[in-house]
Amino acid sequence: MIAAGVDIGGSFIKAGLVDTANGRIKARCSVPFPKGQGEEAVWDLVDASVKKLLRSQKMDPADLGFVGVALPGTLSPDKTTVIHAYNLNFHGTLVYRPLQERFPHTPLAVMNDGDAATVAEHQFGVLKGARTAVLLTLGTGVGGGLILNGKLFGGGLGNGVEPGHMTLRYDGEPHICGNNGCVEMYCGAHGLATEKPEATPREIIEGIRRGDAESEKVLDRYTDALSSALVSIVNLLDPEVIALGGGISNAGAPLIDMTARKVREKSFFVAERRIVRASMGNDAGIVGAAVAGDCL
Ligand SMILES: [Zn+2]
Repeated sequence: MIAAGVDIGGSFIKAGLVDTANGRIKARCSVPFPKGQGEEAVWDLVDASVKKLLRSQKMDPADLGFVGVALPGTLSPDKTTVIHAYNLNFHGTLVYRPLQERFPHTPLAVMNDGDAATVAEHQFGVLKGARTAVLLTLGTGVGGGLILNGKLFGGGLGNGVEPGHMTLRYDGEPHICGNNGCVEMYCGAHGLATEKPEATPREIIEGIRRGDAESEKVLDRYTDALSSALVSIVNLLDPEVIALGGGISNAGAPLIDMTARKVREKSFFVAERRIVRASMGNDAGIVGAAVAGDCL
């Protein structure tokens, strides 16, 4: 089946036509997020992007098997409304109905982008075959998802999972969500920048890859925080495998190795578990959203 996957982010709306049998993207496009223009402008761009891709492949809208849309926010349990998507400034925003009006003849689903990336890694990436697995995406924000009993876990009451809003320091800095000391404050780009304010996160990540001494110190402090967040997940779920994705995971082996060592040291369990870099990269949201029809 050919399905459309759309990944709405605070900077770009990315869309792709995906062969759901193998996760390959046949055609893709990206447009800037229309900041400050209201939600209808966003849905119009989603619509225009998918239809442009269909035309590029000489496909008719009727040939499209599914449209999946991922966004960085919490959805209502019935997946019709965005409760909060802080980066998009959507709060209590209807999402299912306006998209259904634009794709009236195609099955449609809206999901959290961390869940979409988790589905992509589980179907085609480093979480393939795992019964119990965790994905953390380390970018400007921190998101992720859980595989429990071989399936995406959508939350006990259907609200999803929000690893970026777990409390790492109960007396920590205030977070945009209104709570204090959330994981996102220490394990996202903000946390990395705090350790070396004179450099951009990208410069820090490049320094870590090169192995320069000062960046290694930053990595040491950053992985103190990240491993503490992960060890709480490990002690709660005992997952087989943890994948780290998002822009910060581009730091590569130094990040993965130091994090894995610290998680092992801090974990209550002595069991060996894999901590690996996510493999689907920037395509995870598009591919996961497109194949989500099979796992929701
Ligand atoms: Zn928070």
